[in-house]
Amino acid sequence: QEVTNHEESLSGASLLASALKNQGVEYMFGVVGIPVIEIAGAAQAEGIKYIGMRNEQAACYAASAVGYLTGRPGVCLVVSGPGLLHALGGMANAMSNCWPVLVIGGSSDVDQESMGAFQEFPQCSADTGPSSGINHCLGATLVGPSADMLPCESAQITTKVEAARPYSKYSARPSSVGEIPFFVEKAVRTSIYGRPGACYLDLPGNMITEKVAACKARKICCSPPPPKCLADPVAVDKAVQVLSEASKPLAIIGKGAAYAHAEKPLQEFVERCKLPFLPTPMGKGVISDEHPLCVAAARSRALSQADVIIVFGARLNWILHFGRPPRFRADVKIIQIDLHAEEMNNNVHAEVMLWGDLKRVAEQLRDAVERKFGIDPANLCGLPSWKKELKEKSDTNKQNNEELANETSVPMNYYQVYGQLTKHLPHDCVVVNEGANTMDIGRTMIPNHLPRNRLFTKVMFSDHVNKSTITVDGKTIEEADSYVYFEKTLTRDGDLLPEIRRRTALGWAAFRKVGNIMRSHKASMKMKRKIHDEYILPVMTYGLDAGTFGTMGVGTGFAIAAALLAECQAKDKNRPRRVVCVQGDSAFGFSGMELETACSAPPTALLPKARYERIIEAFGGKGFFAETPHELKTALESAFVETGKKRKPVLINVMISPYADRKPQLMLVIGHALITTLK
Ligand code: ADP
Repeated sequence: QEVTNHEESLSGASLLASALKNQGVEYMFGVVGIPVIEIAGAAQAEGIKYIGMRNEQAACYAASAVGYLTGRPGVCLVVSGPGLLHALGGMANAMSNCWPVLVIGGSSDVDQESMGAFQEFPQCSADTGPSSGINHCLGATLVGPSADMLPCESAQITTKVEAARPYSKYSARPSSVGEIPFFVEKAVRTSIYGRPGACYLDLPGNMITEKVAACKARKICCSPPPPKCLADPVAVDKAVQVLSEASKPLAIIGKGAAYAHAEKPLQEFVERCKLPFLPTPMGKGVISDEHPLCVAAARSRALSQADVIIVFGARLNWILHFGRPPRFRADVKIIQIDLHAEEMNNNVHAEVMLWGDLKRVAEQLRDAVERKFGIDPANLCGLPSWKKELKEKSDTNKQNNEELANETSVPMNYYQVYGQLTKHLPHDCVVVNEGANTMDIGRTMIPNHLPRNRLFTKVMFSDHVNKSTITVDGKTIEEADSYVYFEKTLTRDGDLLPEIRRRTALGWAAFRKVGNIMRSHKASMKMKRKIHDEYILPVMTYGLDAGTFGTMGVGTGFAIAAALLAECQAKDKNRPRRVVCVQGDSAFGFSGMELETACSAPPTALLPKARYERIIEAFGGKGFFAETPHELKTALESAFVETGKKRKPVLINVMISPYADRKPQLMLVIGHALITTLK
């Protein structure tokens, strides 16, 4: 489109970047190259934090972790062809986990399509038929509809964004440069509304550089957070009724509860009912693993014996043995809570279906219990013998784990490693955990106390107790971190749960003081709120693992995303939350090169003098480092000896000037000469 000089004009890249910013996107991960370099630059100019990674798959894992942790999608920026192909793994993982992510892929210029263009790939194929599949395929355009045409009107000239379609809720190519904001809003909104998932936007190279007059660019408002709906009140009452009649009730808490930030009403509901609960791997920490009602250590027993199970945001899939015998009772009554109606009755009949937002439904259930049975019903849920049985089983299993952790054998077992690690974990750190045994045992050995967080340790109390000073109104609270853990250990009236009291012999005096402050009338409301907000209610915390897809190799990307958020969200910039990633060797191998991303500062550039040759030496190969022509010559001579006689693989790491480039090329075009520098 021609733009006259006096009009402000915007490139597709800058229009895309400002639309992303306008939709609340803060983080972008990717690998830049032709044709998306301009997009990364424009995003940075808009204040979006861009992290350059080594592989699009890990970049997509990182972006989706941001989506899960913040409720707004992270963006994964990829080049055409192989770039998008690598990202598909991350998209599939996000879809399987129900996490929002937005992948933006460059693609070949539209006028080169079907000509064997550079990295051409069926990201986008012309199709004049109606769109099909579960996701929407809007957009155009080999020729493109007119700029004034609404995208829905252009559906006749449908372009299918083929490759991304099976791995996304929505995949589209904007119908024109001016329409980019419309497509960005739709993609962001679709990724977070309903069941969250992945979305894909395809940007041909010519659309990225093409300019449009600012007045022709579509103006779109920021899409608000998803609406939160309540469950049918009749179903809520029925759920409470079914629970109250159970002999062996159980609650299962899934990552849907973590994503919904349902921790507070859920804990109140569980405590009010005195309901035993167990978390799924990523539901850990929504209510503390140290909570006396947590029966995670007696998981198999609890699942196989329960007669009524209320499931908060977890699918009855392989992680929960499909809700079927022999792991579950054949006559178990399931109360299912999910925002995705199609999830209801999956694999097992649901006695009660509570369709709504988990936080809202947990509040409804909590209030319904109070209405029906009062604020402190004596043992509303289940037989006392049920809880006793689960407690005894939990204690025995925990003791077995401790015995294994205390072994001194060499080589070590997993339990020994976790036993030591938990003593060193800062109390509010983020734990990323993946692998086979590494993850399975980690789930039992690392107790979680905070939602969206896989962790936390008992030693924190002894660390801080001597230094803790607590004062009220006008005076500061020192060692504030000590109290974050306290959130889940305080009962509603500000007292400590007996279990915690026992565990925290060294530190609990300090915590009792906080409890007293909260209970007493000495502190002003303002101070109480301050204590509550700053010390008792933690800032966002989270825990991540291989997830529903069982994907190995996600950990490093997740850890990089978590560390970035910790850095950006830290109240005290000198003390951001720590991130600990525990991986099995196989899991580590998938994205091991992302360690370079983790070490890079600024994260947009690769390390200038990364000593790649040391990597091969770690595996028994031979490495050389060459900065000068002479060093290179020697290295090459030795390399052929090593690979020849010794049959060893060799890596020569050669330093090239950052200013080195291809020599200018002369291209002859009929009738006149065109000189251009290719980059
Ligand atoms: P887990 O891995 O913990 O077993 P799943 O990923 O299987 O958990 O299930 C999470 C469920 O939570 C999904 O079915 C999803 O639809 C649901 N969910 C996600 N967000 C919400 C929410 N805000 N309210 C209710 N349900 C939710």
